[in-house]
Amino acid sequence: MELEIETIVVGAGAVGLAIAAELANLGHDVLVIERYGAFGTETSSRNSEVIHAGLYYPQGSLRAKLCVEGRKRLYAFAEDYHVPVNRCGKLLVATNEAEIDQLAIIEGKAIRNGVDDLQRLTAEEARRLEPQIRCVAATLSPSTGIMDSHRLMAAFETRLLEAGGQIVFNSEVTGIAAVSKGEFRVSITSGGEVTSLTCANVVNAAGLGASKIGRMLAAAKPDYAVPGLYPAKGHYFALQSRSPFKHLVYPMPSPDALGIHLTLDMSGAAKFGPDIHWQDDIDYTFVDTDARREVFAREIRRYWPALPEGALIPAYTGIRPKIYPQGAAPADFAIHGEQEHGVRGFIGLYGIESPGLTASLAIAGYVAALLN
Ligand SMILES: Cc1cc2nc3c(=O)[nH]c(=O)nc-3n(C[C@H](O)[C@H](O)[C@H](O)COP(=O)(O)OP(=O)(O)OC[C@H]3O[C@@H](n4cnc5c(N)ncnc54)[C@H](O)[C@@H]3O)c2cc1C
Repeated sequence: MELEIETIVVGAGAVGLAIAAELANLGHDVLVIERYGAFGTETSSRNSEVIHAGLYYPQGSLRAKLCVEGRKRLYAFAEDYHVPVNRCGKLLVATNEAEIDQLAIIEGKAIRNGVDDLQRLTAEEARRLEPQIRCVAATLSPSTGIMDSHRLMAAFETRLLEAGGQIVFNSEVTGIAAVSKGEFRVSITSGGEVTSLTCANVVNAAGLGASKIGRMLAAAKPDYAVPGLYPAKGHYFALQSRSPFKHLVYPMPSPDALGIHLTLDMSGAAKFGPDIHWQDDIDYTFVDTDARREVFAREIRRYWPALPEGALIPAYTGIRPKIYPQGAAPADFAIHGEQEHGVRGFIGLYGIESPGLTASLAIAGYVAALLN
């Protein structure tokens, strides 16, 4: 049977768009299928918008490798495509003596990951940069920055369309069948109508929907172990007043989250988050309780004692597409190709949580190499 399209990318988040643009520029005939009416309405627009340097991830992991490479590519891409970024730098703060050892461990990891610009600061040096900060020591990461994630995705879309790729919105992938070697039939539901397209490659970049898509393939490949989804919500509060900080400020991370940090947007406004709340479903509701406000205020005052009373206003939530349950060892990005499931032409991306935005261009290169 003649193929109707060469490559279908499921999902128009930052990662799906970056992959689609990369493939289109390599000569693929690409169609992106997105269930909602616009790109990036899920995780890609509900995050901290930080360009991570690559400090935290285990050496040799995909998260480490693709973050460091992706960060360099992202800064270069932002310049070429006029995406607003600010290489503002970040302070990782030790707020007591015990945390100084953790600083050293993170610095060691960062160096092994190829991050070679960290600077250890005394409390006084940190206060010279940020007069309101409270810490006993800090590590400055000068290559950490912030971005306008919407403009980044718009630039990916432009790059895709310029190379002849296409996107359809309001269209949900509801079935995938590997019909013969090198041929998939993808069912798409749009306005209650189901249509199907045949293609040679499917890239599953469906974020929180990726496990569901993976299970569609697994129907024909029962031995394919599709990673499960364990959604972990994070809340963000905005700071009502002007930010006294010019750098991002991060506390020590826990195994499954980076801690309630201060991040800035491109206008200089500050927000704090995300906390971590494991849940069974995809529920973006902002749960604004006194208990949550107390936890935020306590965590923030560890590094910013002058946080004014009543200065936090509920902003938004985001959901981490985790592929391991609460309490289990954190998982790496899972990017599955033929080696994992035995089906040529199908790439599945699971657990693309932080630093997925930073890594998006490097993930795109990685996926293109797997497919080609
Ligand atoms: C709280 C939080 C903070 C974060 N902070 C940062 C940060 O500061 N820096 C950083 O680098 N990364 C950060 N990340 C990670 C980053 O946001 C994600 O890795 C990235 O946005 C994932 O992009 P994506 O395209 O894979 O997924 P998404 O943006 O979720 O896109 C997936 C798309 O697939 C679509 N879809 C799903 N199912 C179907 C279907 N069946 N048919 C058609 N379409 C479908 C969805 O509608 C969606 O548009 C953070 C994440 C979270 C949750």
